Amino acid sequence: MCVPGCQETVRHALSRRGLFKGALALGAVSAGIVAKPAHARPPARFTTTVDLTHTMSPEFPTFFGVAGIELEKKFDFHKDGYNLNWWHIIEHAGTHLDAPIHFSENGMSAEKIPADALVTALAVIDVTEKAAQNPDYLLSRDDLAAWEKKHGRLPENCCVAMHSGWDRHVSDPKFAGKDAAGVLHFPGFGPDAAEWLMKERSVAGLAVDTLSLDHGPSKDFKVHYAWLPSGRWGLENVANLDKIPAAGATLVAGLAKVKGATGGPARLIALV
Ligand SMILES: [Zn+2]
Repeated sequence: MCVPGCQETVRHALSRRGLFKGALALGAVSAGIVAKPAHARPPARFTTTVDLTHTMSPEFPTFFGVAGIELEKKFDFHKDGYNLNWWHIIEHAGTHLDAPIHFSENGMSAEKIPADALVTALAVIDVTEKAAQNPDYLLSRDDLAAWEKKHGRLPENCCVAMHSGWDRHVSDPKFAGKDAAGVLHFPGFGPDAAEWLMKERSVAGLAVDTLSLDHGPSKDFKVHYAWLPSGRWGLENVANLDKIPAAGATLVAGLAKVKGATGGPARLIALV
């Protein structure tokens, strides 16, 4: 299985000056896959990098309500001559990637996602006003249509990010807010919107600035179950989507490469 993003390899070389010098080669990642033309390749140059990653700590809210990481000091500079921690982490905590195998029996695990598929054009869908009115807001097909009306067709093999404004709640209980009945409340992708992206557009991944691709109250995880088994990936707890343009940025998802992992911590950098 191959994600849409790996069917088309648009390589960009990062020069010593730190500038993309343009597409160098168009090829296929694996044998037998025909490369498609690059309709909307990532920008050839960038002037700014924006960190889309939250700082991970034991305090960072998690879906499970327990610490997503624990650091155990194994070696101390004063005692041992150097500092070194052992980490105990949840695969899906902090800013992280969901690999296809997370919600499928035989999907791709994290280390098998090709590097090319982790560098994509980034389309940011602003639903901040709607999410402010409705914490359970589902990003809709209308939201996608509104983006395309303004910015043109979604780029080939892009990442579509929901910007709900939720990352500003990361230090308050609202981020993973549970009501009296224990139901979570935060926005997410609507299943119909995700389905449309799968059928009608070429999208490598979804990204959200919340804990989950599905909105808080979801019990059936429809978006996860549709999106990930199709070979596509997802990013959760993305930060700083308000600091990048709605169109034109390139995402570099630096994913931890662990054998058999169902996802993992990611350093997300936008090239603007
Ligand atoms: Zn996850």
